Amino acid sequence: MKVLVAVKRVVDYNVKVRPKADGTDVDLANVKMSINPFCEIAVEEAVRLKEKGEATEIVAVSVGPQQSQEQLRTALALGADRAILVSTEGTLEPLAIAKCLKAVCDSESPDLVLMGKQAIDGDNNQTGQMLAALLGVGQATFASEIAIDGDNVSVTREVDGGLQTLSLALPAVVTADLRLNEPRYASLPNIMKAKKKPLDTTTPADLGVDASSRVTLMGVELPAERQAGIKVEDVAQLVDKLRNEAKVIS
Ligand code: AMP
Repeated sequence: MKVLVAVKRVVDYNVKVRPKADGTDVDLANVKMSINPFCEIAVEEAVRLKEKGEATEIVAVSVGPQQSQEQLRTALALGADRAILVSTEGTLEPLAIAKCLKAVCDSESPDLVLMGKQAIDGDNNQTGQMLAALLGVGQATFASEIAIDGDNVSVTREVDGGLQTLSLALPAVVTADLRLNEPRYASLPNIMKAKKKPLDTTTPADLGVDASSRVTLMGVELPAERQAGIKVEDVAQLVDKLRNEAKVIS
């Protein structure tokens, strides 16, 4: 079983992001970039499937600038066998990324596509769903447990009221939620070995994909600063303030 894992380069989750001075986008100058945490979970799951003897090959794919090779090397150090970079200038929107991933799937024919449930930069939560639609295959999003069962994959999802279990015919697209697993750290020998693993580069044009934008980012801004709170003397004063100042009770 061949597994394709989609990996996105994003601002590291420890970084407090700032808008650019002109508010046109997030300022990425000198900011630490990492593999999207949910993509790391997807890679870990693929590696576990390989360790169980269920996956035979893991291909990591990223769509983004040349520097995304760093995140692909991380995926290779975690256990992916080879990587493909779809090299782009600037940021693509989810539909364009899904089209690039679809083109890669057409040539790679994976049995299972593992992705993150969302990228922590744009918080889109769209790419997996769009890819499944473009491929015409089943999708299971927000996976907290995955089990291969012959020609099917059984996926447990965390939904509002509890757990839902789906069975999908392979090939299928599955997106990883936080509790699917706890990713391992890449060991130094594996980081060294990853440098020698194959990493191919292609472009949307080579894949025949029209990556032009249909959505325009109008601006980004920080949330309004929270005002300092006050301490009330007693319940009567609290009720008075809620009624007469905040006007949230009558
Ligand atoms: P999003 O729809 O942007 O929230 O992203 C959901 C998931 O789609 C991510 O966790 C990745 O697995 C995949 N994805 C999104 N953008 C890219 C990209 N540029 N390259 C590779 N995978 C991506």
